[in-house]
Amino acid sequence: MAIRPILICGPCSAESEEMVLETARELKNLVAPDYFRAGIWKPRTRPDSFEGVGEKGLAWMKRVQEELNIPVITEVANASHVEKIAEYGFKAFWIGARTVANPFSVQEIAEAAKGCSIKVFVKNPTNPDIDLWCGAIERFQKLGFDEIVAVSRGFYPFAETKLRNMPCWEIPIELARRMPELKIICDPSHIAGDTRYIAEIAQQAINLNMSGLMIESHCCPSNALSDKSQQLTPAEVKSLIDNLKMKTSAIDDRNFETKLESLRSKIDVLDYQLIDILKQRFAITNEIGEIKKSRNVAVLQIDRWKKVLESRSEYAEKLGLSRELIAALFSEIHKESIKEQQ
Ligand code: PEP
Ligand code: MN
Repeated sequence: MAIRPILICGPCSAESEEMVLETARELKNLVAPDYFRAGIWKPRTRPDSFEGVGEKGLAWMKRVQEELNIPVITEVANASHVEKIAEYGFKAFWIGARTVANPFSVQEIAEAAKGCSIKVFVKNPTNPDIDLWCGAIERFQKLGFDEIVAVSRGFYPFAETKLRNMPCWEIPIELARRMPELKIICDPSHIAGDTRYIAEIAQQAINLNMSGLMIESHCCPSNALSDKSQQLTPAEVKSLIDNLKMKTSAIDDRNFETKLESLRSKIDVLDYQLIDILKQRFAITNEIGEIKKSRNVAVLQIDRWKKVLESRSEYAEKLGLSRELIAALFSEIHKESIKEQQ
């Protein structure tokens, strides 16, 4: 039997009462999410962007919770946000990627929420710092919160990529290793930044055994006031969920399957890292080629090549890797560099 992931869906921001209710109704009919999300106070990079509707949106969310019977969740960034959502009966809140990087804010939020029976979702910070993420979770644990969920939303990409944020899967994998009891879900919308890539990221998260998905969905994405390019219609969310290959709960094979998937996912991550490193290496060899050309220096420097081949093969051998394999690999890389420099 397939295990369904925890599903949190809703628009990036609550924009009007009509769009909130319309989106929530459609989502309820099509995918019955576990939580309906919408940002009320939006942390925006630039001050002239839409910063959310503020407190009046809380009443719209309350209607979703009461009339459609879907628990609602929003982002909080300070104690006053926590007090307001508690007043409106919210069942959960999340801490956003920008706020989670500030331990003062996290502590303030945790203290304001202490004693409320409310579920806490902690997104990762935008910089790939696992300790900062763990630290924020620990601040809640120390105050007695037992329903904490981590949300993997990707990390700031230092190089250009097709994705808005790098998944850096090794970080949530490390979080799961350090905190095995913690539920971790994925926000493929903020990783992808583009509707074309959300499904593949969601599938990768499920392959990594993540417990759920937070997906941005808007009844009319082309009119969205924030994150327009990454919001799916409720019908598109349904199709994404219907096409997800879920893990089976067949007891006999479960450990084997889980282990295998987790190892393969690690290989996937490493393979992409290998490709990224190769890309960086070729960028440098091309630069060397340019310099050589400008000084009329020959492309092939046989002494340098001999040294590279010898030192890399020796290093590989020390690590217990096959000398021949590494020599063959570097010969291919070198061949390509020479070709590129011609
Ligand atoms: C959001 O979920 O709309 C949001 C702003 O998320 P993040 O903090 O991950 O950027
Ligand atoms: Mn958003």
